Formats: sequence, structure tokens, C-alpha cells
Amino acid sequence: MIKNIILDFGHGGIDKNGKYTTAPAKMHTFSNGDVAYEGEINRQIGGMLALYLNAHRLRYNIVMTVNTYDPTDISLDKRVETANKYDANESILISIHSNASSPSGRGRGFEIFTTRGLTKSDQLATEIGVVIREFYKKQNLELRFDFEDNDLDKEANFQILRQSNCPAVLLECLFFDNLDDFKKLRDPEFQKELSWHIYRGVMNYLAKYGD
Ligand SMILES: [Zn+2]
Repeated sequence: MIKNIILDFGHGGIDKNGKYTTAPAKMHTFSNGDVAYEGEINRQIGGMLALYLNAHRLRYNIVMTVNTYDPTDISLDKRVETANKYDANESILISIHSNASSPSGRGRGFEIFTTRGLTKSDQLATEIGVVIREFYKKQNLELRFDFEDNDLDKEANFQILRQSNCPAVLLECLFFDNLDDFKKLRDPEFQKELSWHIYRGVMNYLAKYGD
């Protein structure tokens, strides 16, 4: 039975001195002067997801590898260490990121990644993916996975997916270095809706496979 929902928000945030704690590759300055900080966006979307999930805190233990109010760029080793404190058979992990396509900045859309091979992560990716697909269709936003073959996830070798013992997925919500995608990512209303749909996908997974 799933007891723990582990949330991971990629990279670091902005500290009290206004300094971004993460490598410059994880931010983007647009020609109009707007600056996108991936780690901040991940914390904002992930923080809202945590709020929705907290409504179920009597049933599920909501764990965060990174606190939304803490801008520290926690190492991947530490994030994995936190995740692996919990019984893998009783836990799932959702890692929130946004994507980049420098230098062109032309990349757009949503991707979801799982551990390599056929694992329990695939069902989690599918349940989140189908809900996001409906939402993004209405928003005229792209999905970067092929859902015709009934396999929504892309397989990658991210450390958080490779080394976490429980079913784990990594979401690249949109591209923070594309101005159209970034306008969505920074919009609190969009963040709220996106996190709500991720939450719905997680709940669908738990209803089907959580017991
Ligand atoms: Zn990232």
C-alpha cells in the first residue's frame, strides 16, 4: 500500500540576497529583460501540488526533498537519500522540472520521464500523462511524447529516477527558455491549474494501484 508521496523540485531558488543558487544553465534572460529561473518555477508549481496533496495528509505522508521556502540547491545525492529513507513498496516520487532548448530556445511542450525499462513508474507516468494531455490540449500546448503507442513516458537516465528505489517520474512541465512557454510557467493561474492536473493524475494512480 502506498503511504508516502515524495515530491522533488529541481534545482535551487533565489536566496535572501537575490542570488540564484543554481548554475546559469538553469535560468534564461530574454531579450525583453524577463528572467526565467527554473528552480523558482519548479518550487512554485511543486508547492501548489504539495498543497493539493496535503488535503490527504491523514492517509498519505507528503515528503519534500526540498522545501519550497528554502532556496538551497540540494544535491541529487541528498534528494535520493531522502527518497530512499522510505520503503520503496510504500512510496512514489514525482520530480518537477521545466525544460530548456538553448541556444535556439525553440523547444516547447511537456515531457514525462521514467526509469528505464518496464517498471511501476510507467503506470504513474501514464496516469499523470493522460490528465495533462487533456489539459494541454485545451491550452493549445504541446506534448512531446507519442501517445498513439499507448506509452506516454520517455525513458531517461536522470539520477533521481535511476537511484530512487520507489516508482518515480520526472516532469518537464514546459520550456522556461521559450517566451511563450515561460509566459505560461510564470502565470500563477496556469501554475495552479497545472499542479491541479498533476494532482489529479497522482490521485488516479493511487486509486488504481495504491492499495
Ligand atoms: Zn531541471
